[in-house]
Amino acid sequence: MSNDSESKEFMHGSLAFEEEDASGAVPPSIDLPRIERAIREILFAVGEDPDREGLRDTPARVARMYAELFSGLHVDPREHVRKFFTEKYDEVVLVTDISFESMCEHHLMPFMGKAHIGYLPDGRVIGLSKLARVVEGVARRPQVQERMTEQIADLLVEELRAKGVAVVIEAVHTCMTVRGVRKPGCVCVTSAMKGAFRTSPSTRAEIMTLIYGNRR
Ligand SMILES: [Zn+2]
Repeated sequence: MSNDSESKEFMHGSLAFEEEDASGAVPPSIDLPRIERAIREILFAVGEDPDREGLRDTPARVARMYAELFSGLHVDPREHVRKFFTEKYDEVVLVTDISFESMCEHHLMPFMGKAHIGYLPDGRVIGLSKLARVVEGVARRPQVQERMTEQIADLLVEELRAKGVAVVIEAVHTCMTVRGVRKPGCVCVTSAMKGAFRTSPSTRAEIMTLIYGNRR
């Protein structure tokens, strides 16, 4: 994450937040009018006029955006893992650079980055795209990176009964880059190691080399 081209990828991630609701469907339990009223209140509270032309549609727009960013609250990410198939493969399965966007629950500011997920199957294997679905389900809710990392790892341990699970997440937190300490470019890395990746230093070293081998 130290070179320029990779930090540009993060820029694209943040720009995606400006696009209109890409996913469309709003979960029925998300109360859009209530969010709209709250956003209107915030605009009043900071001294703005929510009825001026540029802001008129903002509460509705922000409400739809929150519905999208918090859509993970209304899905069970375990669903994606329950359809495993049986395979006698017992080497590491690793998917790197699964991009995600989440919301820091302390500031309601986005944090975004990449997840790397490896597991050592014990007969149960899932489609590779399912790992990305799990990341999305866990990310799209008020979240902290540390908990997100653990949640993904625990979920895979429980559902796949894998011999080992390794989750590494690298993210840029806009609550650190645009406010507070204002340190643009700093990347927060968290990891959760379970089973063999926790107990065996060589297995752990192997997965870290697979994840970072060509990059650092
Ligand atoms: Zn924060």
